[in-house]
Amino acid sequence: MSEHFVFPVPASALEGTHCTKEQYDALYEQSINDPDGFWKDQAGRIDWMKPFTKVKNASFSGDISIKWFEDGTLNASANCIDRHLPERANDTAIIWEGDDPADSKHITFSELYEQVCQFANVLKKRGAKKGDRITIYMPMIPEAVYAMLACARIGAVHSVVFGGFSPDALAGRIQDCQSTFVITADEGLRGAKKVPLKANVDTALEQCPDVSSVVVVRRTGGEVAWSEGRDVWYHEAAATVPAECPPEEMSAEDPLFILYTSGSTGKPKGVLHTTGGYMVWAAMTHEYVFDYKQGDIYWCTADVGWVTGHTYIVYGPLANGATTLVFEGIPTYPDAGRFWQVCEKHKVNIFYTAPTAIRALERLGDEFVTKHDRSSIRLLGTVGEPINPEAWLWYHKVVGEERCPIVDTWWQTETGGVMISPLPGATDLKPGSATNPMFGVKPALVDQDGNILEGATSGNLVITDSWPGQMRSVFGDHDRFKQTYFSTYKGMYFTGDGCRRDEDGYYWITGRVDDVINVSGHRMGTAEVESALVEHDLVAEAAVVGFPHDIKGQGIYAYVTLFEGAESSEELRKELVALVRQEIGPIATPDFIQFAPALPKTRSGKIMRRILRKIAENEFGNLGDTSTLADPGVVDDLIENRQNK
Ligand code: ATP
Ligand code: MG
Repeated sequence: MSEHFVFPVPASALEGTHCTKEQYDALYEQSINDPDGFWKDQAGRIDWMKPFTKVKNASFSGDISIKWFEDGTLNASANCIDRHLPERANDTAIIWEGDDPADSKHITFSELYEQVCQFANVLKKRGAKKGDRITIYMPMIPEAVYAMLACARIGAVHSVVFGGFSPDALAGRIQDCQSTFVITADEGLRGAKKVPLKANVDTALEQCPDVSSVVVVRRTGGEVAWSEGRDVWYHEAAATVPAECPPEEMSAEDPLFILYTSGSTGKPKGVLHTTGGYMVWAAMTHEYVFDYKQGDIYWCTADVGWVTGHTYIVYGPLANGATTLVFEGIPTYPDAGRFWQVCEKHKVNIFYTAPTAIRALERLGDEFVTKHDRSSIRLLGTVGEPINPEAWLWYHKVVGEERCPIVDTWWQTETGGVMISPLPGATDLKPGSATNPMFGVKPALVDQDGNILEGATSGNLVITDSWPGQMRSVFGDHDRFKQTYFSTYKGMYFTGDGCRRDEDGYYWITGRVDDVINVSGHRMGTAEVESALVEHDLVAEAAVVGFPHDIKGQGIYAYVTLFEGAESSEELRKELVALVRQEIGPIATPDFIQFAPALPKTRSGKIMRRILRKIAENEFGNLGDTSTLADPGVVDDLIENRQNK
């Protein structure tokens, strides 16, 4: 069905746009044919302490070395704060919306400056210095952003670990990057529930004897244990230091942060990003993808524990001097209308979230959306997984009142920022397609042997040349970097994702290559079968995997979650099979359909198909790395009720 829908650029999106269709074509062409000229211009978005003379120096073969703007120097925090002070000191940099709807505040750029300088001085006084790795394990409070920018200010490398991770997961990440410094809070607050962050740190540190300093921000005032000498209250330490701290001069290729991937496909990787290229990429993509204009209120609902939070809550928006909303709570507290209540309260113009949230909210009914005024919203965005056309249409119609373009942004922790996405003023939309490449991005589809495929076709998605925001290495394991991304196809960056390109050159991500199903020689992406299933009125979410099949090679096993209040039945099972046959063809007929109250997801909300595959294969004794699973309880129910016994 998706093929038949095209949503042309609405007239409203052309008003003052940074990029029309003609401009996109011209700029994209320049970015590919004259990369040095293009990136020299784009790098002007950033304040350099010492200008660079060399733009790009990257090779995807041999030892894999990637450098951008290598002889330039800069500081990321100065770019996010100091340079806005002359003209915008009293403008709002951060709107913080607390877990409790009565709790919110505005932080200006000059306040941000003081807070970050003070935080930086606390870190320095405790002995932190350039190059040190500092682990940040925080709730979504302004101090999480201050802490990140304070690290950047003094040249320390932050590793933010999502506050929902367990002590074990935290310990593993602290050990992996040999961090000796942790920043945390007494407790977090999500949906009125307390998260024992400091207690988790204490447990984690039993396995991390090298950590010598823990800075604790007071959030709830709850009881915490204390290790004298190691632990310090942030507010006490901050009272003793000045609110001025000169930014450290960093080389463009000095590390800015390490961030662990979500763990959808296996053990998380410590993705290393550096300073210059990342900042240019973050600022440029934030402006173009969201068509950001000064004065816009911009809200990305991610957590700073994910790359989306890094690039599109902190570095991209603040580099552009935007007002960025930081939300502490969850979408369903006090009720499922929370997102839209916040949009109404703060007059949000640009709203960016994940398909998992969209599907979950759709499941709970339209009234939660429509009871709030959403007229301020101009643009919607999604990231994290393929968005099923059915969910896209709901987002477009019910949330966006058919008024707002949707930017479906495909990218990865590894890519630093958006790689394939519509631009609001330039791209006609097709629900479920991430559409066209960002400037400087050269995507290609290859077959199993690495041959580049032309025209309308399906294949494995690779990027054939470097872009500034690209990760530089896996921290401490350059070999894993080479193996994971550059050994499958010689001279190309392999994304791990399968993809289809249509007659208009639009890209459609079909899921992970590992998840591709091969039925009697026909290769199928999980996303396509899932999208057919969720077209049924009663189906909220679906996950599809392959399992060994004597005749077909692989069979299709579908897990289906129904809308609130809907009942499963044999009849419904038959209807779903018929629907898939009609939408895709008899070849995609599911062999098994299991009705499941919930699906296993990562903490960032992505479906973990590798676990579902094990269950479908009856191999549930060996589920692999489950440390990033959001709710392990979900798995027991799935095993209990599996169909393929
Ligand atoms: P790991 O690498 O540890 O398995 P992960 O790949 O889930 O975890 P991320 O970097 O958070 O870690 O996610 C990137 C992946 O998310 C992409 O490779 C892609 O599979 C999926 N993705 C992100 N955005 C989109 C999108 N707009 N459309 C389709 N898929 C997307
Ligand atoms: Mg990945």
